[in-house]
Amino acid sequence: MATLVLKQGSDRRLRAGHPWIYRSEIADLKGGSAAGEAISVVDAAGHFLGRGFYNPRPAIACRLLTRRDEALDGAFFLRRLRAALEYRRAASLVADAYRLCWSEADGLPGLVVDRYGQVSVVQPLTLGMERALPRIEEALGLLFPSGAVYRLDDTTAARIEGFAPQRGWAGTGSAGPAEITIAEGECRFAISFGSGHKTGLYLDQRENRRIVADHAPGRRVLDAFCYTGAFACQALKAGAAQALLLESSAEALAGAEKNLALNGLPGRAELRAGNAFDELRALEARRERFGVVVLDPPPFTRRKESVEAAARGYKEINLRGLRVLEPGGVLATFSCSHHVTPALFEAICREAAGDAGIAVRVLATLGPSLDHPVLLSVPESRYLKGLLLETL
Ligand code: SAH
Repeated sequence: MATLVLKQGSDRRLRAGHPWIYRSEIADLKGGSAAGEAISVVDAAGHFLGRGFYNPRPAIACRLLTRRDEALDGAFFLRRLRAALEYRRAASLVADAYRLCWSEADGLPGLVVDRYGQVSVVQPLTLGMERALPRIEEALGLLFPSGAVYRLDDTTAARIEGFAPQRGWAGTGSAGPAEITIAEGECRFAISFGSGHKTGLYLDQRENRRIVADHAPGRRVLDAFCYTGAFACQALKAGAAQALLLESSAEALAGAEKNLALNGLPGRAELRAGNAFDELRALEARRERFGVVVLDPPPFTRRKESVEAAARGYKEINLRGLRVLEPGGVLATFSCSHHVTPALFEAICREAAGDAGIAVRVLATLGPSLDHPVLLSVPESRYLKGLLLETL
């Protein structure tokens, strides 16, 4: 196995618990390694630090998978995935749909596995993980003998890491169902494999959908950036009087329509296709009011350099979201941009409330569901942040 030698001082972050090695931190690669292969990592003095997959193409050339002298074989993946399952079982997080493996936070940097019924949806985020998929699929087969595996590569990760993104049932002759229905609390949601630009649900918002639903009874709800309408469905099921769903993707709206029907809710919901920025402005101009507003936009930035522009976007929607709230109404507002820190997000919302001239109380600070654990030593694993605000 090849050995990656770090530059003097470049071991500090690794020793503090962070698993990433940047290309610029590498002093030497002894023994020559091909992209995607396992390598040992040593510090400048030659002390062993761990093992991971190497890729010279992206800025992050290696993510440590282990700090021990052990093989990254099928047994390794089985141990890690079993530990991920056990953590979730112990914390009562195993449900019809949940995240089984969340990359760094589960000791498998570059691998995401979501479970929908008996189907494991696998997402490799690094070349090494893509190459290791046969071992991962085998481990999943041992953990869930009656399950199927669906591979759903992320096109952005594939481009950065240099592999051809694929989608489809893994293994031979083990195609799963094209569509299933899963339960999330009182609601049922349709999950389709093999079609659509997204498979499944935003599982990271599972807890928050329940929290928001608690505020919904009797109220009119605005679900902006609704995707397949999971927030609106939960709110209506909990007794919301009516919901307006805003979404720009026709495909997502079709999913929302299906989910509303599955739950017997279409009579109390209105779906509106379009740009949520424009719709929010129009709602404000028409002086429409809601008891609950949910703002769950896609990441407005993926790069540090464009945080300022993203902040303007977040401020605008939060300003408008607050203005369409009735007195005593509740705003559930989120950001899933890595580079927008919880402190920055709070500052943006404070400015929005200041400009709107509305006093708000913080009912709760929100994060991802607990099946998306956060590693204290890896701030990047905390990407979803939210605030539950009440106007006074
Ligand atoms: N709240 C959802 C997840 C939202 S994901 C849930 O719990 O399932 C963000 C959604 O915003 C995506 O479906 C995306 O298609 C949509 N979107 C992106 N830009 C938009 C825009 N400008 N206006 C409306 N919707 C937009």
